Amino acid sequence: MTAAFAPGRRAALLSAAAAAAAAALPAAAPAAPAQRRTPAPGFHRVMVGDVEVTALLDGGMQMPNENIPRFFPDSTPEEIAPLRERAFFREGGLHQPVGCYLVNTGRSLFLVDCGGDGQTFPNTGRTLDALRASGYAPEEVQAVLLTHIHPEHAAGLSFDGTTRNFPNAEVVVSQTDHRFWTDPAEEGRVPQGQRFIQAARRAIGPYGERIRTIPLEREVEVLPGVFSVPAPGHTPGHVSYRVTSQNETMLIWGDIAHQVVIQLARPRWRVGVDVDPAMGIESRVRHLEMLAGERVLVGGVHVPWPGFGRVVRDGEGFLWVPRPWQLA
Ligand SMILES: [Zn+2]
Repeated sequence: MTAAFAPGRRAALLSAAAAAAAAALPAAAPAAPAQRRTPAPGFHRVMVGDVEVTALLDGGMQMPNENIPRFFPDSTPEEIAPLRERAFFREGGLHQPVGCYLVNTGRSLFLVDCGGDGQTFPNTGRTLDALRASGYAPEEVQAVLLTHIHPEHAAGLSFDGTTRNFPNAEVVVSQTDHRFWTDPAEEGRVPQGQRFIQAARRAIGPYGERIRTIPLEREVEVLPGVFSVPAPGHTPGHVSYRVTSQNETMLIWGDIAHQVVIQLARPRWRVGVDVDPAMGIESRVRHLEMLAGERVLVGGVHVPWPGFGRVVRDGEGFLWVPRPWQLA
């Protein structure tokens, strides 16, 4: 007789099996497991010469169909349908991703824009998570360079209007945009009204003396090797930023295009949310011609993730060519 058939041992095995079975069965009906549905923090890195550029995913915005005629007042349903199809949009509306860019030149660490706050636009405000996931801490950020003070570009500066999300950073913004969002005399010109004005003031308020304004009239070297590029129209003080290293250049734009496939094909369509739509067209076309001519790498806040690519000419308009992810 082997030990396995000893009655005591067998009983023990049986009771262990029963206990295991009991453990596998819930004692009572469990609560339905809640799906988290939270995406992984998104970041993606490229090098521009010696400069490291990390795209951070802040979130996204979904525009319903009924807003399209207001957003693109020159569009017709017949003309926009094939462009939506070209962009592989799902049924209904237009999707607008929101990102921002963390740049480490080796001498300075700064953000270009910093995403939303999750309040003005609910599916935004994840930049801090993405920044930490990418290996940096908000305390390390030395500057936040704003393209303009719209909520999904700047509201990530502070969620409560008191606390600085980047406690050691200065905020760089054009004088013209700063005045536009803080001068009571300008309030009537804001297309979106008080909601955006309050969001802008909540964002920059806690930075007080740490705000550095730059002139809009010309390119300014805001940090060593980093230049502002005037792009007024979307807001009066809207700018892009150009980073150059080792004969390589990247231009980071804010709202030169909200819908890159559609607006590069139709660069002269007015944008309904622009403060000065005619000036917005001028800035867009000037940017696109320069970028296509110089074949400059672009990072765009609302360009589909991770937002790196180039602009090429295509008939009367332009075409966006995404940078392949697999390039080291
Ligand atoms: Zn904007």
